[in-house]
Amino acid sequence: MNKQEYIDTAEQELLHTYNRFSLVLDHGEGVYLYDTDKKAYLDFAAGIAVCALGYSNEAYKNALKDQVDKLLHTSNLYYNVPTIEAAKKALKASGMDRIFFTNSGTEAIEGAIKAAKKYAYTRDGHAGHEIIAMKHSFHGRSIGALSVTGNAHYQEPFAPLMPGVKFAEYNNLESVKELVTDKTCAVIMETVQGEGGIYPADPAFIEGVRRLCDEKDILLILDEIQCGMGRTGEMFAWQNYGVKPDIMTCAKALGCGVPVGAFFLTQRVADKSLAPGDHGTTYGGNPFVGAAVSAVFDQFKACDILGHVKEVAPYLEQKLDELVEKYDFLITRRGKGLMQGVVCKLPVGKVAAAALEQGLIVITAGADVLRFVPPLVIEKQHVDEMIEKLEKALLSVQE
Ligand SMILES: *Cc1c(COP(=O)(O)O)cnc(C)c1O
Repeated sequence: MNKQEYIDTAEQELLHTYNRFSLVLDHGEGVYLYDTDKKAYLDFAAGIAVCALGYSNEAYKNALKDQVDKLLHTSNLYYNVPTIEAAKKALKASGMDRIFFTNSGTEAIEGAIKAAKKYAYTRDGHAGHEIIAMKHSFHGRSIGALSVTGNAHYQEPFAPLMPGVKFAEYNNLESVKELVTDKTCAVIMETVQGEGGIYPADPAFIEGVRRLCDEKDILLILDEIQCGMGRTGEMFAWQNYGVKPDIMTCAKALGCGVPVGAFFLTQRVADKSLAPGDHGTTYGGNPFVGAAVSAVFDQFKACDILGHVKEVAPYLEQKLDELVEKYDFLITRRGKGLMQGVVCKLPVGKVAAAALEQGLIVITAGADVLRFVPPLVIEKQHVDEMIEKLEKALLSVQE
């Protein structure tokens, strides 16, 4: 089949829940992806902040291949060594005490919500607790995760959703305080909002929310699904701020392409939270994903990913700032580390499509933001190449 035949076939087979770009990807090498016509694309999307190690990390690939030969799945009725090791590395990197592996970010959010509700139930001896979430947030598409996603457009067709959720303004501490009642059991937020338009938390805001939660025994759930795993230069974005969550969710780059997520708890929360019978998963934390997560943490260390992000991210910021300075249709840049957004007055979907013509993959966030979430192994030369291609794409759309 040629490219158009693949696309036409896909459009007959797959439920039409995405307006996809006309791109059939075939393989990857380093920070480049190749389509079925062998055209190369510099990748500044990383499969939506997933492929942190890029596409040809030998040690990672070999760890997966070795585990395929040994054992893929056991269920959670038994222990398995790769997942025990993965858990140890994830807990060490986060300073959290307990971890539950899921199959996706959405499921990590589901688990985090249940963990918070169970904690409050155990403490108070009754259910009926409420959660404060943020406007313009994104936590996933299941009914639970959608219920804490502050996007009316995503929510509307699926009402009624989970009750007891109120939405505050991100980076507005007063708006959070106003919503607190004696029923509030958790505040959930992304440390850096992703889909909503790349908004990092203000230090005063996240510190203030932490203090508020401490005063009232409200659990702080930080969603690190997109901003975690080294993207901001620290393993988890909250480590930039000196605040620690009570519950954290992680996914995306946790498996670098193998579908895995997790929620993490402190021991204080775990002691009053989910117990046998409260939660489960058939696939979650199976030996295959355990081997993947373990290899990801090993490669983060071996490649000094955090040091590398700290070095290359300021260069990306500088180059994007120069671009924003140069063109009136670019309004501002914001972000943290290798999670950057540029507000753009040109139609961003068209810019992303035009970038493909130039051999560059970028994505959008919200209605007017170009999003840059490349593999964490990009070098400065790739930033230069990206800027050159992006500039051509922008000018082609502007005409
Ligand atoms: C992607 C994302 C999710 C959902 O993760 P899935 O793996 O798609 O289920 C949740 N929260 C944030 C912040 C995300 O970026």
